[in-house]
Amino acid sequence: MQLNTPAAPADDVEAAPVDTQTHDRWAWFNGRLVSLDTAQAGLDTHAMHYGSGVFEGIRAYATTDGGAAVFRLPEHLERMRKGAQLLGLPFDPAQVTNAVLATLRANRHRDAYIRPLAWAGEGGFGLDLAGHRAHLMVATTASTVHLHGQRTRVGVSPWRRNPCDSLPPLKLCGGYVNSILAKREAKARGFDEALFCDRSGRVVECTGANVFMVKAGQITAVEHPDALPGITRDALLALSGAEARTVMLDELLEADEVFVCGTAAEVAPIAEIEGQRYGDNPVTRTLSARFARVLRGQYPTYRHWLTPV
Ligand code: PMP
Repeated sequence: MQLNTPAAPADDVEAAPVDTQTHDRWAWFNGRLVSLDTAQAGLDTHAMHYGSGVFEGIRAYATTDGGAAVFRLPEHLERMRKGAQLLGLPFDPAQVTNAVLATLRANRHRDAYIRPLAWAGEGGFGLDLAGHRAHLMVATTASTVHLHGQRTRVGVSPWRRNPCDSLPPLKLCGGYVNSILAKREAKARGFDEALFCDRSGRVVECTGANVFMVKAGQITAVEHPDALPGITRDALLALSGAEARTVMLDELLEADEVFVCGTAAEVAPIAEIEGQRYGDNPVTRTLSARFARVLRGQYPTYRHWLTPV
């Protein structure tokens, strides 16, 4: 697939003037910064019909030294590269790094959610992607930081997570229809979030977050081959020394604390799973506070996880 040729060289955009009236609304699109309000994709966009794209959800945080930094940017882009490779979409991590930083700077974002997306565009309605045009965008939005946030109420989904031998656990656009169905069902029953379990009762993950539990002070990360290998989960494993293993739903329901984690969710304590209520989540809160200090650049040991903006 051919990457859509940029109308201006990528290097030019670093110096692009920022209109302070609309400074929140810049996006990177095929090699240059454009106004988020005017950039468009056509109705024959392949990804819109079939989900033939790959995205990431990344966050930047204001750091205590007065700057801002992107959390684990290379790891996010490596996961995105794997998805792009599967779809035959061109993907250059160095270029996307530049795009992410340029968009954050143009929008003057410090605490921000970052959404890069690579997708198959024009080229016909057939499933064969050969000959389709490839596109890349990065949008950023000023974000609220949810650490120590609301306690989430979770329903066990009647839907199964996409099995990894049907769809690999990467951030492929079409795969998220599975999450959308589960979220709809859970919300219709009055819950905030859905928990996927497999046919044997093993816990998989939530619609956009990985699961941990705490029992008698011991922190355990739920492991399952169908779950996305989360970058937040990996960071919390390193920070807590938790063990990672298979967990059955019955065991999760009997835990002292349950929390879910992800880039968007950060560390979200769970209040309830299907009527099973958890206490005040003290271990979760301590870990979450430690994680927040890492994100703000207060732990020299983990500063290599931060890419300055
Ligand atoms: N599982 C799914 C299905 C997700 O979409 C996400 C969010 N990317 C996660 C887990 C958490 O992953 P990460 O910590 O890398 O954001």
